[in-house]
Amino acid sequence: RVENLKKYYKGGTIKALDNISINVDEGEVVVIIGPSGSGKSTLLRSLNLLEIPTEGNIFVDDVLITDPKTDINKHRQKMGMVFQHFNLFPNMNILKNLTIAPTRLLGKSKDEATEYAMELLEKVGLADRAAAYPSQLSGGQKQRIAIVRALCMNPKIMLFDEPTSALDPEMVGEVLDVMKELASQGMSMVVVTHEMGFAREVADKVVFMDAGQLIEQGTPEQIFEHPQSERLKTFLDKVI
Ligand code: ATP
Ligand code: MG
Repeated sequence: RVENLKKYYKGGTIKALDNISINVDEGEVVVIIGPSGSGKSTLLRSLNLLEIPTEGNIFVDDVLITDPKTDINKHRQKMGMVFQHFNLFPNMNILKNLTIAPTRLLGKSKDEATEYAMELLEKVGLADRAAAYPSQLSGGQKQRIAIVRALCMNPKIMLFDEPTSALDPEMVGEVLDVMKELASQGMSMVVVTHEMGFAREVADKVVFMDAGQLIEQGTPEQIFEHPQSERLKTFLDKVI
């Protein structure tokens, strides 16, 4: 739950987030859309405190994570994050990429972490690439691995920042399919994307941002078929 979140840069001359409040219920998929520079990434990065908000509250499971006294590392572990660029460790093979955090941070044994990683790799059709290095995989494969790596930490919520924007068009589908599967299994997700088809099909709620403000939010039907504000109408005319 995000309450009145503000993030200012340069002494307040840039209002990247200007009083944002949103709710993500358990099992819900929230898709954030909006033009470049509207604050989508800043909002997503604020959710796990990669950005420190200027003002406002963020609660995860009723714990106020913006309270300086809260152990943020503990809460970060519950939030899986997938970026536009995959950020896999280039010097480790896929299996090592997947097991390093669960063994070091969750205290899992190597066998336990490996078994779980292989199970998830199986699900995304990449079990046969466990020994490969990131440079030997396609962009779509790397992004599916990045999703699996986040899932290996058993997150309560998954955050995606334009996970398909850097991919060749023919690889977008395979990544979106993994995300759809995750959503259908009841994972709570916040997804920044320009894939309006995904938003229509998978989102429970769509949030439209412009210039740091939350302009409209609603069901895909409300946002795409019955936009209220001129700003959303103009945006949709451009992207659809
Ligand atoms: P895009 O679709 O291009 O990824 P976005 O909606 O994710 O855009 P943000 O990256 O959140 O937008 O940026 C929101 C605003 O905050 C922009 O005006 C950006 O220039 C500004 N901004 C973001 N990070 C910083 C920073 N570290 N210092 C100063 N300004 C910043
Ligand atoms: Mg962004």
